[in-house]
Amino acid sequence: MTDIKSMTLEELTAWLKERGEPAFRAKQIFHWLYRGVTSFDEMTDLSKALREKLSRQAFLTPPQVARKQVSKLDGTIKYLWELSDGNCVESVLMRYQHGNTVCISCQVGCRMGCAFCASTLAGKVRDLTPAEMIDQVLFTQIDSGAPISNIVLMGIGEPLDNFDTVMRFLTLVNHPEGMNIGMRHISLSTCGLVDKIDKLARYGLQLTLSVSLHAPDDETRSKIMPVNRSVGVEKLMDTCRRYVQATGRRISYEYAMIDGVNDSDAQADQLARLLKGTLGHVNLIPLNDVEESPLKPSRRVAAFQKRLERQGVTVTVRRKLGSDIDASCGQLRRKAMQSAQGMGGQTTNRKEDEVP
Ligand code: SAH
Repeated sequence: MTDIKSMTLEELTAWLKERGEPAFRAKQIFHWLYRGVTSFDEMTDLSKALREKLSRQAFLTPPQVARKQVSKLDGTIKYLWELSDGNCVESVLMRYQHGNTVCISCQVGCRMGCAFCASTLAGKVRDLTPAEMIDQVLFTQIDSGAPISNIVLMGIGEPLDNFDTVMRFLTLVNHPEGMNIGMRHISLSTCGLVDKIDKLARYGLQLTLSVSLHAPDDETRSKIMPVNRSVGVEKLMDTCRRYVQATGRRISYEYAMIDGVNDSDAQADQLARLLKGTLGHVNLIPLNDVEESPLKPSRRVAAFQKRLERQGVTVTVRRKLGSDIDASCGQLRRKAMQSAQGMGGQTTNRKEDEVP
């Protein structure tokens, strides 16, 4: 059986050709897929025989809305999608002046282990498929009626830990016959898998790379981000500099402000030194409070910002959207898992291997 929506138009054309179908059928089917059909039967301009052949040889995996929360404050919508195997992932629709943005997941759970993040608490269950990533964008657009112009890969999971799928997703979502979303309208966020950042650089894509830095020194970063224990801040920054050189794109450094952990004046100074001469800016994120975590939001965001700016660093502070709903990574899925269990903290999810 073929996962038809994970194929590019060119692959679909070849696949149909092998089955004796002309090339224009591929385009017809591709268009149906991106109109959000959930079965081959809905492809009404194909012959019944072809529709039946497709149902025998290929499958679709449309997600179901398991839960939906709409913010009364700013219209942010958070979706909990149930995938075809019963697992759940989240997407968030955010309405900005520059267009509607959807934040999507790339894995069921995450194995990176960041101390402040709800997505990783129960480990990684599995990678998503390209089709499952596309469908988050498509069905968010269809359900909400909001045309999507921007995508951020900042939901559940580590995009560079599902590299090939994410690259295929980018090709698909960018395709003019599909959603036609330009690379400059896409951001990819990583906790800093250096080998994969180097690999990504070789593609020379015009997307925005966000690096979740969160601390300027190894002691602090290793404490809150296990991925830092094997690589370290210096090597990560070298990799980022190589990335900028290869792509000409500036990097966005994410920095979630955590009370008493990474928000001191000394750390602001260290961060400014670290970024000196690099093409990039800092995005300060007010920490989202995760119930299970002892880490709390910093009260020094404005002071930290000022101190960085005084040293020539470009800084933005992320606007908090959907604060009346669980609009941050992994929290809705986590709540749904807990209520399915009728208890806190435990899940049936198999925990995959630890941080690489
Ligand atoms: N795995 C990728 C992308 C998913 S997380 C990464 O690490 O970048 C998207 C962003 O949200 C990352 O910058 C992550 O560090 C941040 N984040 C996770 N939990 C958070 C929380 N509780 N408060 C604020 N930001 C958080």
